[in-house]
Amino acid sequence: MNRRILISGASIAGPTLAFWLARYGFTPTVVERAPRLREGGNGVDVRGQAVEVAERMGIMPQIRAAAADVTGLSFVDAANRSLARIDMRAIQRRAASAEVEIMRGDLAAILHEATRDVEYVFGNSIRAIEQDEDGVTVGFEHGPTRRFDLVVGADGTHSTVRRLTFGPESQFVKHLGYYFAFAEADPALGERRWVTLYNLPGRAASIYRSGTHAGAKANFIFRSRPIPYDHRDVEQQKRLLSEAFADLPWLVPDLLAGALADPDFYFDALSQVRMASWSSGRVALAGDAAHCASPAAGAGATLSLVGAYRLAGELSSAAGDHRIAFRRYEQGYRKTVGRSQSNLFIGMIAPKSRRGIWARNTMARLPLLGAMAGVERRLQPRIQPLPDYGSATGSFRA
Ligand SMILES: Cc1cc2nc3c(=O)[nH]c(=O)nc-3n(C[C@H](O)[C@H](O)[C@H](O)COP(=O)(O)OP(=O)(O)OC[C@H]3O[C@@H](n4cnc5c(N)ncnc54)[C@H](O)[C@@H]3O)c2cc1C
Repeated sequence: MNRRILISGASIAGPTLAFWLARYGFTPTVVERAPRLREGGNGVDVRGQAVEVAERMGIMPQIRAAAADVTGLSFVDAANRSLARIDMRAIQRRAASAEVEIMRGDLAAILHEATRDVEYVFGNSIRAIEQDEDGVTVGFEHGPTRRFDLVVGADGTHSTVRRLTFGPESQFVKHLGYYFAFAEADPALGERRWVTLYNLPGRAASIYRSGTHAGAKANFIFRSRPIPYDHRDVEQQKRLLSEAFADLPWLVPDLLAGALADPDFYFDALSQVRMASWSSGRVALAGDAAHCASPAAGAGATLSLVGAYRLAGELSSAAGDHRIAFRRYEQGYRKTVGRSQSNLFIGMIAPKSRRGIWARNTMARLPLLGAMAGVERRLQPRIQPLPDYGSATGSFRA
């Protein structure tokens, strides 16, 4: 029962879910709207239980080999003079953290490679979902209607599966008062192995330069009330960013010019997804679609890896019975998600006032390694041990 499972979204949660479902003998299909695997994004963290999940998948060596190798944050003034630094690597060493920072695109590529046997359909999207007693009839933007036993939305904060099943996103996506953008940057602008960050009140621009990648990324954050915009209209988003960062000093004009020319430009509201339930009948949600914590929590990839592992494991343990599995998945994982959603560090990255920037820089100069290591340990989602669902291949575990 419930063998054929359609997953919408091929980023982090989708391929992880597909990996484990295939391992347990289900038949997953992944549909991704983009014409090919999306490469964009800055560094994301694989930490805590996500390291265990990646180890059980056998992909931790690839993740370590592709690690971004970034030392920490360097705060600078308008003349690019260093004001303070936070050595994140030293903090992680003190916290005995097995955490790895990796470019989001590299992680997505490793997960895709690990699921080569799974059917991927790129350049398509679910358009309609109709559930009945025995399964789900799914209509696509292109091609014929298909029938599946279950559908999982792993299609991010603006999930189509969530909209079609639970209603408009305005009910679930909570604006955190900031907007952010990622784009390519000229590596010559930044210091190797550091994130170099310039602030004005409520605004931050930075260059992310890893030790293992030739390129660099620009990152912009600005504070704003909700702005009505079309999240698929990239030109409109570029205009919003230009307005927010017009006439700023430092390297902002160069970073902006690079961002506006980048075809992979990524812009979004800093927001969280909060839902009363992550499933409805034969449809469930995973990753950001269910519980986005926002990039300001630094937990998106970790939560997606662990959540997808748990969802597949519960389906296997319940011999495919979605009613049991979806309930256990949610009961077992909500607490971890809630904790990550309440750990935001936006105040450190983009303080609201000059006084806040000064206080952040002063703190960063103090010898607070021990205290910061404590914070780092708190960020590891380890409320309960990671369940072991066995690693049966090709058969359901009853
Ligand atoms: C291009 C990109 C860059 C990112 N960069 C960063 C970053 O630098 N830092 C950070 O903290 N987080 C970043 N994120 C978000 C981060 O990946 C997530 O927070 C986290 O990893 C959760 O992953 P997810 O798989 O649940 O969702 P996401 O990573 O958001 O992936 C959702 C996937 O679903 C696809 N999709 C969307 N709608 C549909 C549809 N209708 N049909 C089919 N597929 C659909 C998207 O194209 C995407 O591939 C980025 C996400 C993307 C897509």
